[in-house]
Amino acid sequence: MLRLAIQKSGRLSEDSLNLIRECGISFLSSSYKLKTEATNFPLEILYLRDDDIPGYVQDGVADLGIVGQNVLVEAGLPQLEIEGLGFSKCRLSLAVPRAAGYDSVADLSGKNIATSYPRILGSYLQERGVTANLHTISGSVEIAPSIGLAEAICDIVSSGSTLLGNGLREVETVFRSEAVLIANQQLSAEKKELLEQLQFRMQAVRRARR
Ligand code: ATP
Ligand code: ZN
Repeated sequence: MLRLAIQKSGRLSEDSLNLIRECGISFLSSSYKLKTEATNFPLEILYLRDDDIPGYVQDGVADLGIVGQNVLVEAGLPQLEIEGLGFSKCRLSLAVPRAAGYDSVADLSGKNIATSYPRILGSYLQERGVTANLHTISGSVEIAPSIGLAEAICDIVSSGSTLLGNGLREVETVFRSEAVLIANQQLSAEKKELLEQLQFRMQAVRRARR
């Protein structure tokens, strides 16, 4: 039996469940349960916080997972990705106070930047030869400039209205993300075979959606 980890409740949850259902896999879902077994495919679904999914798949607690590429890359486990799923598209961007001058990323040298993505931002800045002070905070990143914690932020942007509401403007796209299917790298031959069946169905679903 394959164990697939998905986000328990959040922006990935509904689309992940829909994808599994559209693959013709039936299961009872309940918001209280931590796991559920499919009735017509050898699959068990685990409901977890998205941040925990890459580590559990790496360790083999789960065989497969559905998670945002942003979380996967930030966890330092990009090698687990097997295919993009085309939903939960978003971007990680740098933003500065609207009134602040900004010409290029070099302007961020020596500045304080608040983010929940120090690894992704760190390598982006390093590739551009910029050294800045990264402050890792786990939530409400966009308020950091207004409370004097940082001169810039790097966070997930979808509409831009959160940025606007906090007096910020987006200046660089650091990373583009979508939900991805990830897999443990030491699956047994039996599990690999089941994974192939699952991927085949997922690809058919995506073709049908287009
Ligand atoms: P958890 O409680 O599981 O830790 P979370 O609060 O960290 O959840 P969510 O806000 O539910 O995470 O976002 C999950 C993922 O959805 C993000 O890591 C990202 O890949 C994607 N995502 C985030 N914001 C958006 C958005 N506005 N539009 C589309 N996808 C998004
Ligand atoms: Zn999370």
